[in-house]
Amino acid sequence: MPHSFKSKSSNTSFSRPSNATTTSFSTPTDSYSATFPYSNHVQEPPKFKVLIVGAGIGGLMLGYCLERCGIEYVILEKMGYLQVPKSTIQLTANTLLAIEQMGLLPEVMRIAKPVSCVTLRKHNMAVVGKLDTLYCKERYGYHSLVVKRTEFCDILIKRMGSHRIQWNRKVLEVVNGNAGVQCRCANNHVEQGDIIVGADGAHSAVRQNLYRSLHGKNFLPKSDTEDLKFTQNAVMGMTNPLDLDVYPAVGARFTECHIIIGKESPYTMWINSTAGNRINWCVTGPLLTPDKTTQNFKVSEFGPEAVEAVCDLIHDLKIPFGGTLGDLIAKTPKDCITKVLVEEKHYKTWHYGRTVLIGEAVHKFASFSGQGAEQAIMDAICLVNLLNAQKTYGLHEITKVFEAYQEERSPVTKAAVQVSGQVANLLNSQGFSSEFKRKVVFNLPNWVRTSSVDKMQVRPMLDFLPKIEDRGTRSIKSAYSIRSF
Ligand SMILES: Cc1cc2nc3c(=O)[nH]c(=O)nc-3n(C[C@H](O)[C@H](O)[C@H](O)COP(=O)(O)OP(=O)(O)OC[C@H]3O[C@@H](n4cnc5c(N)ncnc54)[C@H](O)[C@@H]3O)c2cc1C
Repeated sequence: MPHSFKSKSSNTSFSRPSNATTTSFSTPTDSYSATFPYSNHVQEPPKFKVLIVGAGIGGLMLGYCLERCGIEYVILEKMGYLQVPKSTIQLTANTLLAIEQMGLLPEVMRIAKPVSCVTLRKHNMAVVGKLDTLYCKERYGYHSLVVKRTEFCDILIKRMGSHRIQWNRKVLEVVNGNAGVQCRCANNHVEQGDIIVGADGAHSAVRQNLYRSLHGKNFLPKSDTEDLKFTQNAVMGMTNPLDLDVYPAVGARFTECHIIIGKESPYTMWINSTAGNRINWCVTGPLLTPDKTTQNFKVSEFGPEAVEAVCDLIHDLKIPFGGTLGDLIAKTPKDCITKVLVEEKHYKTWHYGRTVLIGEAVHKFASFSGQGAEQAIMDAICLVNLLNAQKTYGLHEITKVFEAYQEERSPVTKAAVQVSGQVANLLNSQGFSSEFKRKVVFNLPNWVRTSSVDKMQVRPMLDFLPKIEDRGTRSIKSAYSIRSF
């Protein structure tokens, strides 16, 4: 059962600073000005306003869905700009149906490549097994797509209008009151609204604020006080457009995702072509932290010297396009190479009071598992459907919406975190037994594989937009639907 605060949240005032006024549950429009400690940014109360922290895929998709249903929102992002392209995300029928419904599919197709198969190889490029993915189009309605991450964010920003995002707004503190929520940013800017959505990634400041407060009240389950489970480091990059005479496979309509398991080296490599004749590469392994000091270990992205040191370690790895990874590194701008921590965690506490978490703030997947972006998008769709179905927004109604959201999404994302952890373990471990397991998994009969993918089909749509035809021949297990409270 997902952790929730059904009984407590409806009659407890939450996390209010000592100078905040005590008010009983009320509609958000009635008492804005007097309840908060920060008063340098007083604004007219809108009808209902959502504060979204983080302009990653989860926050942007949430913003765009709110835009479409006419709920007021603002996105606060700590960075000053959209980051350079460093990686891709995977989108499948589970999100493409809603993306088509929103009218975004033609633009997404321009920055995407459909995936034909996932091929497992040994260090010498010998094929261990191949998982065909072409069947997805007929069975689920869409090919699996590899999509450039930054460009996908860009599509959402253009559609919602860049005025919706406040850049350079690092959120430091969140204050919940009965009549609204307020957050303070690093540059002393203060923003207030009716609810706050922490879409600020794996090391979410909104989550940390919320959990600190709940911990003080003994409301936090023990597992939520524990750190994310770190497994290893990953280095990833995306090349500049490549010469098709040298890399002809890169120009093909479909991309093949290659996974290469190291033998003498402890590295596993993920590599595939992307739209725009680029190659996206990622290497994981335990030796990718050149300086194992605590400080370096904790920093999720590192500077140019460290990039060079790590690239030296993986330079000689062979790649299926011919040559070595060093050839691709030479064609990858340094600021398009990044290190991320491969971490996993599924939290039990998703909301309290006027605060709710989505995306990697509440479920962190191994970055190459292909789940992170999709699950964040599905969180956003579910939450907006539930918010939009609501007619009044008192704290009681908001709590009901958040409970329904967690009830819907938590079991799905918990199972996905578990599966992605198992896959990461399978692909990153060495030794005979791991080799044997990989061989079995990558040579499973099609019906076994498809039946497990069938079980993951949800394909939600936005309830307030006209429905579109679901072309998949395989029916959907469950879909989010309008609820009323
Ligand atoms: C470099 C990189 C490569 C990835 N590669 C893949 C991949 O290949 N495949 C895949 O499926 N997934 C990948 N992912 C994960 C995927 O992009 C995320 O799962 C997806 O974007 C959903 O995450 P999110 O929106 O919840 O959080 P994120 O994408 O992490 O976005 C969080 C946002 O919040 C902002 N933020 C953080 N703290 C604050 C604060 N205090 N105040 C204001 N803003 C804040 C951050 O700057 C960021 O923009 C990658 C992620 C990264 C970072």
